[in-house]
Amino acid sequence: MSEKIELSFEPYTIELKHTFAVSSSVRNITPSVQTELKYNGSTGYGEASLPPYLEETQESVILFLSKIDLSGFKEPFQIEEILNYIDSIEEGNNAAKAAVDIALHDLVCKIKNIPLYKYFSLSKPENLFTSYSIGIDSDEMIDKKLNEARDFKFLKVKLGSSRDKEIIELIRSKTELPLYVDVNQGWKDKSEALRIIEWLAGKNVLLVEQPLSKEQIDDIAWLTANSPLPIIADESVQRLNDFEIIKDIYSGINIKLMKSTGLREAFKMIMKAKAEELKIMLGCMVETSCAVSAAVNLASLVDWIDLDGPLLIKNDNFKGLTYQDGRIKISDQPGIGVEKISNMI
Ligand code: MG
Repeated sequence: MSEKIELSFEPYTIELKHTFAVSSSVRNITPSVQTELKYNGSTGYGEASLPPYLEETQESVILFLSKIDLSGFKEPFQIEEILNYIDSIEEGNNAAKAAVDIALHDLVCKIKNIPLYKYFSLSKPENLFTSYSIGIDSDEMIDKKLNEARDFKFLKVKLGSSRDKEIIELIRSKTELPLYVDVNQGWKDKSEALRIIEWLAGKNVLLVEQPLSKEQIDDIAWLTANSPLPIIADESVQRLNDFEIIKDIYSGINIKLMKSTGLREAFKMIMKAKAEELKIMLGCMVETSCAVSAAVNLASLVDWIDLDGPLLIKNDNFKGLTYQDGRIKISDQPGIGVEKISNMI
């Protein structure tokens, strides 16, 4: 039994079931770092997922985590103080900070013997339907993924290549499911973007995420003002402070724990978005059931759920949330609701 808070961490390579392509990159793995916080016989789990288009790497996360000294905190219940200290160590490092934030919330809620949603004074999240992601792929692979996703209620389609209309036509030849479209900054011209959004609006598309580069602020504002569909910020918004940049130029935001530095700030961002009357998507990177189970605890507050990370990977080393026909079921265990699976083969 330890009576101090002990942080440990190790790199983990998340393997994808299928090659995943978005407008900027193609990949088969996502590097991550998994964390544990121990106190008095209890263990909290967290993770930092590190997709290659972000700045953080396993090395940078491990370097940042190595700088954390929790010896000044006698017990883990001062979540705000501990996370303020961690945030003050260095700018950036959002995923590394999230890995500690998630483990700390897990630890504290386990000690208090409550599921995480109760810590945030929320009711148990129910009737949660996540979208399922379809990357930019060959017709054969899109077909295969549509088969895998046939019981889902929403699909998230990655666009931003020369095949955008073909991909939508192919999907529409197989299913009428409502679609979220994510362009990952892939379109260049605002007028062309508007033309394709007007076309998409007739195809049961519900929203368009990050159509243009986050640098094109005036173009995005124009597009949002003229678009028949909500325009959602993803790459444009990381943390609470970014609201000043995005609040008048988008219709909504995609909040992810890896961007927000974890649960504490994600919750504040959700509250701020509601106050600003922005629509909210709760999303994830390619993550195991650890970080995604944590995020699900906040899902009753949001408009759209895009939490399919664990479905895309083949070496999930946590057991937590489950999926059935596109519906997410949350575990009732205390904390973020996960068990670590040891001795993975
Ligand atoms: Mg996105």
